[in-house]
Amino acid sequence: MAAPERKDFAATKQMKQVMGKHFGDLAQGPEQGKKTAWCTSVGPAELLRAMGFNVYFPENHGALLGATRKAMELIPLANAAGFSPDICSYLTSDVGSYLKGETPLQKMGMEGVPKADVLVFNTNQCRDVKDWFQWYAREWNVPCLGVHTPRGIGEVDGPLVQYVADRTEALVEPLEAVAGTKLDIDKLREVIQLSKDCTSLWKQVLETAANVPSPITFFDGTIQMGPAVVMRGTPEAVDFYKVLLAELEQRVADGVAAVEGEIARIYWEGMPIWGKLKDLANQFLELRICVVASTYCNSWIFDDLDPSDPFASMARAYSSIFICRSDDRKEQYIEQMAEKYHIDGILYHDAKTCPNNSNSRYEMPQRLRQKLDKPFLTINGDLNDLRLYSEEQTRTNIEAFAEQLAGV
Ligand code: SF4
Repeated sequence: MAAPERKDFAATKQMKQVMGKHFGDLAQGPEQGKKTAWCTSVGPAELLRAMGFNVYFPENHGALLGATRKAMELIPLANAAGFSPDICSYLTSDVGSYLKGETPLQKMGMEGVPKADVLVFNTNQCRDVKDWFQWYAREWNVPCLGVHTPRGIGEVDGPLVQYVADRTEALVEPLEAVAGTKLDIDKLREVIQLSKDCTSLWKQVLETAANVPSPITFFDGTIQMGPAVVMRGTPEAVDFYKVLLAELEQRVADGVAAVEGEIARIYWEGMPIWGKLKDLANQFLELRICVVASTYCNSWIFDDLDPSDPFASMARAYSSIFICRSDDRKEQYIEQMAEKYHIDGILYHDAKTCPNNSNSRYEMPQRLRQKLDKPFLTINGDLNDLRLYSEEQTRTNIEAFAEQLAGV
């Protein structure tokens, strides 16, 4: 039987336009008198946008360096400058890119990464982002601000939300000094509403994968998520997800499968392996296994955003993400996902340089196998550093897992 073909989305054209606008705005910012703020992927982007900054997300740049495999020649430059090969390979790829003066952004008409006027982090995901941003702050002599969110959170309770909301609100004064304007609270409410609309549409997009067969895979999601990451809080992102959702709903109505002849459905836990996305997507397609859901793509769903309560709702939304929760909460979440998406098995990616997004190291797969009675596979690799990934071993392990799933 011939291998099924990958099905592209018509909406991808619009996605590329939205991403093009994002990078175009960043490129033109200085001549238009707009300031640039760097922001971590789940940092207070709404606040920065409401204050008139162009918002740049260096993790998106890290993913770009991984996907284009530029990371491999850049990571050693950051290592030589003092960053360990064991720390976040987004950080080392990005710093290496800066040191070399080369980035795929140059192909998009930018001179290089946009220079920050201020850098704003949230440690809800890891400490690496703080060290990363502080390095650039020293390099450019600009302020670096942040919110230190606790990790391993069980209940996102009142005192925690109050603390994070207070720390977020404390950013306003120093940001006003950089922006040269006062925060307009109505503008913040407007941006939060747009962000909420974006996140809610993105959630609906991902939930179409609960259909059997699924009209979308995790690999599609890693591409289509771009606007949810870098353009949340804008009307362009909202418009794009309306179009993508309509296309997916049509696929569901027509019974169009992302993986034709889908024989098994799995959950991807952990980071993507950016430099091997296409190869892995093709292998799963050939095996007729649909990777229907993931922790990663779902990390940009922020149900708690509420324009009527800006700071507390941002605090609740950004402290509820999977990565900063306790293992008990993470397990509960994966259990719910397994049921919702009719999962037959779970693949854990142990990403060597991101322990924060690797959940296979402390027996969680074994505990969940017992609870769910579903098989699992752990693959060793990395988000960007392909020296830590064995192509042959991974292919063989996935084939063996597929045989196991076929016998489920
Ligand atoms: S969460 Fe992991 S991949 Fe993301 S910035 Fe932190 S260490 Fe890097």
